[in-house]
Amino acid sequence: MTLQESDKFATKAIHAGEHVDVHGSVIEPISLSTTFKQSSPANPIGTYEYSRSQNPNRENLERAVAALENAQYGLAFSSGSATTATILQSLPQGSHAVSIGDVYGGTHRYFTKVANAHGVETSFTNDLLNDLPQLIKENTKLVWIETPTNPTLKVTDIQKVADLIKKHAAGQDVILVVDNTFLSPYISNPLNFGADIVVHSATKYINGHSDVVLGVLATNNKPLYERLQFLQNAIGAIPSPFDAWLTHRGLKTLHLRVRQAAVSAIKIAEFLASDKENVVAVNYPGLKTHPNYDVVLKQHRDALGGGMISFRIKGGAEAASKFASSTRLFTLAESLGGIESLLEVPAVMTHGGIPKEAREASGVFDDLIRISVGIEDTEDLLEDIKQALKQATS
Ligand code: PLP
Repeated sequence: MTLQESDKFATKAIHAGEHVDVHGSVIEPISLSTTFKQSSPANPIGTYEYSRSQNPNRENLERAVAALENAQYGLAFSSGSATTATILQSLPQGSHAVSIGDVYGGTHRYFTKVANAHGVETSFTNDLLNDLPQLIKENTKLVWIETPTNPTLKVTDIQKVADLIKKHAAGQDVILVVDNTFLSPYISNPLNFGADIVVHSATKYINGHSDVVLGVLATNNKPLYERLQFLQNAIGAIPSPFDAWLTHRGLKTLHLRVRQAAVSAIKIAEFLASDKENVVAVNYPGLKTHPNYDVVLKQHRDALGGGMISFRIKGGAEAASKFASSTRLFTLAESLGGIESLLEVPAVMTHGGIPKEAREASGVFDDLIRISVGIEDTEDLLEDIKQALKQATS
């Protein structure tokens, strides 16, 4: 089966990266072999030599991710964090990077505690569009954004960032990286808006079943791809064939899962926004009242807001804790993007390590609750939110 240029997302999700074996298996077999036969020295009989360098299952997944991100090239890693690490390892010593302030904590940790040790210095800003021109230096090599942000769901205009880089760092080869984990390729394709690399913790929506830790990136820049592919092999932070196979299987239903989660999430967000008595504020990119809704209209498929919501409950940390312990269907756990609904209290869980002042400056108050809407029945989820809110605020 050859995909056509005109094939839409769902067709690509099912068929991209398809691999037909000698038996004509409709579902690809899992190729566990670590090494591959050669007919004479240095002449492999097929395209594979050694499984760290390339493996059929990883290659299928990489092709599928690239197709969904409108990219020519994809690479898979052992985790989202290993993907980040490999990209940052590609920077020359003495480079400077600019990152949005409220990136994923692990990305922040890598920038400040690992990349700095090999001479990469990073500037963080909570107002990238304003600050970027002043932050760009002669040695700036990379700009990192995450949109929407975690857990306050601020949306960044990717095209505007790309234009600023072109204007203020012309000829400097600054790479714009977008972490698209929160939306998945179904809702947004950052490469269409001028990003050079799009990255995902595929642990979340792409695999979607909370049973694999894996990372991917996609790009249209061939020299960049070749450099990162070299590092993928040289560093060796690759996923196992089984994890690549599972993630490829999960990816085939990405469009169904993400759309359903977004359909439920907008109903839940609208309900929370209407409950002025118990809710202080709601962050959800699908709400027309979201401060960056104009960007959502431009950057997100069908103005979908995704499956992530955060909201501030009345009654402070105590009410947040009570709410988090009162749901029936939403499981209290970190992570997101799976078929099952999850919730957490960022101030004491995912963002607990950030000093209170810095945390609150980016909107992470003690009363903030983050929910990852799964694909259970919409009405059941809404009922669960309503009853937990009643318990927590009564
Ligand atoms: N990027 C984002 C936005 C994340 O939420 C995470 C993990 O939570 C990562 C990257 C890191 O991915 P992983 O946990 O697969 O290493």
